[in-house]
Formats: sequence, structure tokens, C-alpha cells
Amino acid sequence: MSITAQSVWNNCLNFIKDNIQPQAYKTWFEPIMAVKLTDNALSVQVPSKFFYEWLEEHYVKILKVALTKELGETAKLVYIIKMENTYGNKQPFTEKIPSSNRSAVKSQDVDVPLKNRDRELRNPFVIPGIRNVKIESQLNPNYNFDNFLEGDSNRLARSAGLAVSAKPGGTSFNPLLIFGGVGLGKTHLAHAIGVDIKDKYPEKTVLYISAEKFTQQYIDSVKKNNRNDFIHFYQLIDVLVIDDVQFLSGKSGTQDVFFHIFNHLHQNGKQVILTSDKAPVDMQDIEQRLLSRFKWGLSAELQTPDFETRVSILKNKLYRDGVEMPDDIIEYVAKHIKSNIRELEGAIISLIAQSSFNKKEINIELAKQVVEKFVKNTKREVSIDYIQKVVSDYFQMDVDTLQSKTRKRHIVQARQLAMFFAKKLTKASLASIGSQIGKRDHATVLHACKTVDNLSSTDKQFRKYVEDLTKKLSV
Ligand code: ADP
Ligand code: MG
Repeated sequence: MSITAQSVWNNCLNFIKDNIQPQAYKTWFEPIMAVKLTDNALSVQVPSKFFYEWLEEHYVKILKVALTKELGETAKLVYIIKMENTYGNKQPFTEKIPSSNRSAVKSQDVDVPLKNRDRELRNPFVIPGIRNVKIESQLNPNYNFDNFLEGDSNRLARSAGLAVSAKPGGTSFNPLLIFGGVGLGKTHLAHAIGVDIKDKYPEKTVLYISAEKFTQQYIDSVKKNNRNDFIHFYQLIDVLVIDDVQFLSGKSGTQDVFFHIFNHLHQNGKQVILTSDKAPVDMQDIEQRLLSRFKWGLSAELQTPDFETRVSILKNKLYRDGVEMPDDIIEYVAKHIKSNIRELEGAIISLIAQSSFNKKEINIELAKQVVEKFVKNTKREVSIDYIQKVVSDYFQMDVDTLQSKTRKRHIVQARQLAMFFAKKLTKASLASIGSQIGKRDHATVLHACKTVDNLSSTDKQFRKYVEDLTKKLSV
């Protein structure tokens, strides 16, 4: 019987299977393919660079034993890394197994005898005692659950956060993705979860980091030639919180490295918490494989808070700061600043400051001045309600008709235009636009946007509608 790559590898697998956990075997050995055998070098294909690093890190000993049994002391192992996301690329690139320097070098079929490797296989980062090195969590204790007030707008996200902090990595909310517009509490909630976990499980390594800083660290690591250390550092974390992942848009290197870190953490039952200003369906320039990971867990939206919630957030803030303020002033502020909790707080702070510096009494007049400044300074975002009103008026129908289920052409068109402008002029997600314009789903909204794009380039009359409405809606 001739010895083939396949038969050698099968024997190795049988040996390995008997010596490691079934789950580990399934995860790390089943995906490997034996490719060729030349002399005593066996080439195997692994799905990714990360995979190769992991094997080297954890299974090099057993691989060596197995392969030596089959091919003798001079046995060699060559990894061929299947390029991710490139189909039809017939030329695999081969990874050298560096002997002293573990930073991988791209080259052609270079291999190193197993014999020389095992003693030198040390990862500079995963050294004995690394667990004792304290990783600062970077959490802000002022952002906690106690002062994250509950309301309809955040109930789902808040309770998912509580579930995660009760059992990090142990719920199906992994990753937990919190998304929503600016100033709606994403960062606050993300910290709160981390703070609560640290409280309940002090031994767990929790790390909060903004996607921006993560990217910067990654770039530095590439410059300094210690990308592997960077990856390994993140693989040590039990609970990883990455804020504002939309920042990774278009940054494929960082996305790639995050993908590997994510997979590692997820496979090992570690918790990942992400925030973003958009729902996964609306994210652009984020690789599909990463987006699909985001969808594995739960995406919970932070919506704009209703009036009652805004009032209670303000009252809570004032109470904590030991400031008293008449109810009608609080309500005035809450009534006029709707779409951003940070601005809501900002207005109250500036109101307090105004009154104490200028020794003015806090009255409605002062509140009006302050709020006006706030509302003016922030570029006013038209609301979806307003868009629907303007579009309905323009076509001389009422909003109910625009939202109705009818398939009459002119009504369908009006509805599609409303969806198109909602997408264009607000930060609302497709799903949220759909739910506000006649309870449609995100696919319908997406279709509407495409239809409007198409029609306005092919249909003169339709283009006129778009132009007129653009004028009416411009603020
Ligand atoms: P985002 O990250 O979504 O832009 P932040 O988390 O920075 O928003 O929140 C903006 C401000 O609003 C913070 O000061 C935060 O404490 C406050 N805030 C947001 N949501 C709540 C809430 N539910 N209860 C109390 N304060 C809140
Ligand atoms: Mg934030």
C-alpha cells in the first residue's frame, strides 16, 4: 500500500483524536486537509492564519509526536493557509514556520523541521504568569446600571445587558450589539455591563476599548512588528467591550484581526459586547463575515427616549448633583430636546451654570434661551413624522393614506419617497424607518430607496417630485 498524504494524515488524526478533547478535535483538526506528501514533509491546508497560529500555540507537541510516529525523526510539517474570502485563487500562499521569530513571514513553501522547533516555541506574550498581570479594565465606574434609567426606549437593551452581566459568555446574547443614534446611552450601557461584571466576577478580565483606539493599537502593532502579541493580548480577555464598531468601516486590516480575536473569544465562551451607531443591516464597508458574526447574538436598539423617560433622566441627574429645579422648567427642557440625552444633560448643566454665574433666577425665560441655543447649535435633524407630513401634503393625501396597505401606484410612490427621504435625512435605521412608515420591514425600505434612485434617473416627472420635496424638506 502506498503512503499518501491522506493516509499519513489519517493516522495522525487517529492518534490525536485519542489524546485530546473531542470538542477541540472537532474545532481544530477536522477542518485541516492533507494536501501533499513530498519526502517526509506533509503539507496540510488550514483555513486561516489564525488557525495556524493556534495550532502552533497549542498543539505543536502532539502534532510532532504523531508525525514522527508516521514519518520518522526528520518529519516536517508545512502549513498552507487557505486565503479567506478569495475564491478561485488557485495559488495558496504558504506560511513559513519561523523558528525564532514567530511573526509570520510570507514566502513560498519554506518549511522547518519539526525537530528544531518545539523547544523554541515560545510566545513572548503568553508567558507563565501572564494571568497574574493585571489588565486594567478601562471602565468608568460613573457609568453604571444604577444611573442608567430605564424606559421603553432602552428596556430591551438594558435587560439584555443585565442578563449578560449576570452570566457573561453564558447567554445566547453573544455578541451583544447595542446600537442607536448619538447620545442615546450606548457608551454608558456598555460600561455599565462591564462594571457590573467586574463587581460580580472580580477575577474576570474585562476590557473596555473604543474601536478607534483598538484600530490605533493594531496599526502600532503592525509597525512594531508585534501583531501576534496584539492578538494574543486580546485573546486573554474574558469580557471584551468594543465601543463604536462602525469606526471599523473600510478598515479591512483591523476588521480581519478583530475577526480572529472575536472567533477565538467566542469559541472559548468569552463575552463580546459591541456598540454601533447603526444596526448590522445598515452597516457599510464592514466585511460580510464580520457582519454575520455580529448577528450571531442579539442586536438591541437604544431608541430615542419618550418624554417621561427624558424627565426622569433629568430629575435623576439634578438629584445626584444636589440641585433643585422647578418641574415646569425640567419639563420645558425635556419637551424641546428630544433626540439626544447628552444634549438634554448639556442644556440642564448650562442652565444651572447660567443661573449661578449670572445670579439669574432659573425661570422659563432663561430655559427658553438656553434651549434655543442648544437646538440651534445642533444641526436640526428632520423627523420621520415631519417627512411623512411634508410628502403627504405635497401629494394632497393624509398621512394615514400614505401609510396604508394600498397598492395604488401614486400612494405607493408617495410612501417610497417618504422612505427614501427618511433614509437620506435622518440617522434612523432601515428597520426603524419601516416600522414608522406603515409598519414595513427593512427590506421594503431598501427596495423603496432603490426604486426612487432608479425612477429619478429614468422618469422626468418623478425627478421633479424628488427635487420639489428636497427643497421642502431642506432645513
Ligand atoms: P452614546 O454612546 O450613545 O453616544 P452616551 O452613552 O455617551 O451615548 O450617553 C450620553 C449621555 O447620556 C451620558 O452622559 C449618559 O450618562 C446619558 N444617558 C444616556 N442614557 C441614559 C439613561 N438611560 N439614563 C441616564 N443617563 C443616560
Ligand atoms: Mg458613545
